Formats: sequence, structure tokens, C-alpha cells
Amino acid sequence: RGASGQRGIPFNEPGSLTKVFAVASGKGGVGKSSLTVNLACALAAQGLRVGIVDADVHGFSVPALMGITQAPTRVDDMILPPVAYGVKVISIGMFVAGNQPVAWRGPMLHRALEQFLTDVYFGDLDALFLDLPPGTGDIAISVAQLLPKAEILVVTTPQAAAADVAERAGAIATQTGQTVAGVIENMSYLEMPDGGRMELFGSGGGAVLAERLTTTVGTDVPLLGQIPLDILLREGGDAGTPIVLGRPDTPAAIALTDIAGKL
Ligand code: ADP
Repeated sequence: RGASGQRGIPFNEPGSLTKVFAVASGKGGVGKSSLTVNLACALAAQGLRVGIVDADVHGFSVPALMGITQAPTRVDDMILPPVAYGVKVISIGMFVAGNQPVAWRGPMLHRALEQFLTDVYFGDLDALFLDLPPGTGDIAISVAQLLPKAEILVVTTPQAAAADVAERAGAIATQTGQTVAGVIENMSYLEMPDGGRMELFGSGGGAVLAERLTTTVGTDVPLLGQIPLDILLREGGDAGTPIVLGRPDTPAAIALTDIAGKL
């Protein structure tokens, strides 16, 4: 068994070298999954060994964002995850037939996550991203129990109300003893044809949230970056080609790659 990969929740072992990031948000639709996928792909493009666990069981979207249509394969009692852009991906969506809604309760979610972490063969990884469901649900507690080393990344929009709900998602770290790696503000502005910036969702939410979490959690929680609105980011997601790979020249892709470099 490797130092940081393979079976038996090794990401958990004190000797594990894998950095684990649990990507959280207060509410849905703020770009949590899009950011998770782009950060993972940016790191993989730099030659790191990267995996994603799509733990957003109610709104699993990672496979589509990465253009993955193939199912995991089984070898003996192990599950081999599909690989896209060098990133190993496992999602609850890969085990659900068609587009059925997943109406699971806490204990089932916990078991599913546990199984992902034990039975899926990731091999040695440098970084593992968990795309959490929005809010502070059961799965965030499960992540804390199963992966106490996981650092939390909080995604928010510049809107004050969004920062309020996101604070709860980050503040769970005080209960679980986890580290908050930082805040990422998404949809920060739209660049206008004249070069000006339109702040569709207001401004300052990311900075306020980082400040508040620094106080709540008691350690420095940085604002890791601000990502503009970009049609190409959305189109890249729809097409299964993350913008950091498809259009690395865009300000959104540059901001995402910069944030990945800080992780
Ligand atoms: P969440 O995981 O928080 O629910 P998603 O990543 O699914 O959010 O994003 C919600 C929608 O917003 C998607 O259609 C996505 O393409 C779009 N989106 C996210 N971030 C941006 C952005 N910076 N610019 C344009 N569209 C974005």
C-alpha cells in the first residue's frame, strides 16, 4: 500500500501525503462543482496526481462537467474510477440508473462515502477533492469523521446573503476540528465590452466571509481569489471541457489556475 493512496481510508493515515480538500458552499448554484472540477484539472495539468469524489449526492454533476460517460469498472473487490483529463473521478451519479433522484438519508450517505473512500482504487494521489452538497448536512459531518485531515474550501458569491449562509458551511470546521483552507469568491463581476466591470451580485462577500471565518475558526482564512462570470466557463462545463484546459487564456481560467497554485 502506498503512502497516500489505495485502500482502507488511507487518505486518513497520519503518513498520508495526499492533500484532501472538501469543497463546500452555503447554497447551491454558486459554482462549487464547476470550481472543484477546474481546480482539479489545473493541478492535474501541472502533473499532479488528482482525484475527485463527487459527494454532492443530491446534485451530482462532476461527471458531466468532465465529459465522463463511462462507468467505473470492477476488478475483484475494487472499483476502478474513470479518468478524465488525468483526474480520477468517482460519483454517486455513476451508480444511479438514468437520471433518478437520489433520496437517501444520512446513514446511507455516510456508507456511500465510506465505500468510495475504501473500495475505490485511487492509487497514490497528491490531491483529492470532495465536492460536498451545499449546506451543512450530514455529509459534511461524515467527511469530518472519515477524513479528519480534509481542509475545507468555501465557495461563495459576492452577495452578502450568500456569505451569511456560506459562513455556516465553513464554521462547521470549529465543531469538527478541521482547517478552513480558504474562501473562493465566484461570479465576482462580468467584464463589459468597454473593459469595465459589472458587479451583478454586488461586491465584497468573499472578503467579508474570509474575515468572519478567520474570527470564528480562530486561524487565518484567506480569500484565495475572485473568479469573474464568463460564458466560456459555463459553456466549458456544458461541453465537459473545463475552462482551465479549453480556454486557459481567459481571466476566469487564469484566476482558477492561480488559486490551484495556492492549494
Ligand atoms: P454548484 O455546484 O454550486 O451548484 P455549479 O458549479 O453547478 O454550482 O454552477 C451553477 C451554474 O453556474 C452552472 O451552469 C455553471 O456553469 C454556472 N457557473 C458557475 N460559475 C460560473 C462563472 N464564473 N461564470 C459563468 N457561469 C458560471
